Amino acid sequence: LFITLEGVEGVGKSTNLQYIHALLLDELQVPVMVTREPGGTPLAEELRSVLLQPRAEHVNELAELMLMFAARAQHLHERILPSLRQGTWVLCDRFTDATYAYQGGGRGMNTDVIASLEQLVQGDVRPDLTFLLDLPVEVGLARAQARGEMDRFESEQRTFFERVREGYLKRAQLEPDRFIIIDAQPPLVAVQAQIRQALLSRVQK
Ligand code: C5P
Repeated sequence: LFITLEGVEGVGKSTNLQYIHALLLDELQVPVMVTREPGGTPLAEELRSVLLQPRAEHVNELAELMLMFAARAQHLHERILPSLRQGTWVLCDRFTDATYAYQGGGRGMNTDVIASLEQLVQGDVRPDLTFLLDLPVEVGLARAQARGEMDRFESEQRTFFERVREGYLKRAQLEPDRFIIIDAQPPLVAVQAQIRQALLSRVQK
């Protein structure tokens, strides 16, 4: 299975990624490869650092979109597809839904353009299951800022992240069977209880 984890900054993606990883290993006892986007291979990680550095502030939005998909093409062919083919599950921190949310919702890129790049790069490869950690934007940003995390995207205006959140929720509405929306506002143990219940009820080994 191909599982992805999504959410706006400060929703607790990293902590919960580790938690899902542990559930897959310990409770479902499946082989799993954990990776992230943008990134996941040497080339894609280089593209990630180019995109996240502050001097990329003036990158053209179409260029940004295409670099995201360039990284994804490499990642898919070098790591994701080979893993899935050999029966290893893939757990990926962000995937194409992030492109719809950030470059589509956040930057206002046309979703038809995104969809055509998605088709070109992925063919019919889509995640089987997507966890969306959802939280009011001001709560997430306050958490992210308290940790002192500020990459290029994290210095955007709050309205940008409101659009990103809406972009994610719209994706979830379009594909309710694939998405599991997790309320990320309660304390971590309660968030993890939701994740555990959803994962174990949706997924058979
Ligand atoms: O997942 P992580 O927070 O490490 O992602 C790094 C940054 O890249 C985030 O600030 C996120 O906002 C941004 N990003 C983006 N468009 C994507 C994926 C990630 O702007 N498609």
